[in-house]
Amino acid sequence: MDLTKNKRGTASVWGGETNLFEHGATTPPVVNSVTFAYDDLDEWFDVAVGKRDGHIYSRNTNPTVQVLEEKIRVMEYAEAATSFATGMAAISNTLFTLLSPGDRVVSINDSYGGTSKIFLEHLPRFNVDVQLCETTNHEQIETEISKGCKVVYLETPTNPTLKILDLKRLIKAAKQAGAIVVVDNTFATPINQTPILLGADLVVHSATKFLSGHSDVMGGLICGKEELVKKVFHYREINGASLNPASAYMIIRGMKTLELRVLRQNDNALNIAKFLQDHKSVKEVFYPGLESHPGHAIAASQMSGFGGVLSFSLNGGFDEVKQFLTKLKFVHLAASLGSVSTLAGPPKTTSHVEMTEAQRKQLGIPEGLVRYSVGIENVEDLIEDLNEALFK
Ligand SMILES: *Cc1c(COP(=O)(O)O)cnc(C)c1O
Repeated sequence: MDLTKNKRGTASVWGGETNLFEHGATTPPVVNSVTFAYDDLDEWFDVAVGKRDGHIYSRNTNPTVQVLEEKIRVMEYAEAATSFATGMAAISNTLFTLLSPGDRVVSINDSYGGTSKIFLEHLPRFNVDVQLCETTNHEQIETEISKGCKVVYLETPTNPTLKILDLKRLIKAAKQAGAIVVVDNTFATPINQTPILLGADLVVHSATKFLSGHSDVMGGLICGKEELVKKVFHYREINGASLNPASAYMIIRGMKTLELRVLRQNDNALNIAKFLQDHKSVKEVFYPGLESHPGHAIAASQMSGFGGVLSFSLNGGFDEVKQFLTKLKFVHLAASLGSVSTLAGPPKTTSHVEMTEAQRKQLGIPEGLVRYSVGIENVEDLIEDLNEALFK
């Protein structure tokens, strides 16, 4: 069944699940088998060489995992998809597949912390030339792309200050330079943003965040052009960073409520951003849904909702943040984001802990910043909670 014409809420429920499973099961079975047996050696051989569909060994493919891969493929309007043990496995496998010694990659300073480490520490060891640009300086990014590169790696909105990149504009520049465009769509999810429809070649996800949505499973996904996905899959088969079937099932289950959760989180985050913006002890609010956000117009043109993550700084700096955060009731002070429950923390002690104050300043991350990943709670309770905890 082709689900490309359907809305994303329908696609998230039915993607990969339009046929019944064995015994007429209506939900995908968790197939824990490591290996798959054949009575007929010719059939086994045909499956092994890819002439016929089937499974051989679960490091390569697995029936439960395949349902999840089909679901994200459908959700992101992609030709093909594959999966990984974590989001970082998806990103590192993608970059190490696409880049070889002597190649050049162009990206931004604000990519996810782990991705940044690959750019700054690991790829240079293999003589890959990494050019990171000031995140919202589109002219600089275009100039660097036009000098020639193999891969353009983008992420929008960014962590933790929710900067926005103009995907159409940068994808156009990348196409002109003959580069492959990879977009990390973890923050937006396919409910709010579909980069492949804007011309991206590959989309990567940490399924640990919004896709699974309950902070109880880790996983990574990529989808996009079949030829590229096949190459990355070929590397992952041997590299071994495969997703296990139990985790795949948890992500499948989570994704069925993706639209319900994300629409609620979009609403909650926008309401909270507006509330905080008017509060006198709040210095600055970073949320692309606010008209005052410098990337608002671009975000409004390429996103259908602004996502469930926002950040804000307090006038009193880090000392005030410490007191404020511990007064909140409906929040886990923890890393990660995209869960049904609200998660918050200062980037200074979580995602950007390894940087110096000067480096954080360079990225525009105030010392008194709080990243707040809004859950699906009732927004009245969250606002009351924030109001009680903020300095009067
Ligand atoms: C969390 C995250 C990742 C890494 O995913 P893991 O599942 O933790 O490995 C990559 N990109 C973004 C934007 C993330 O938020």
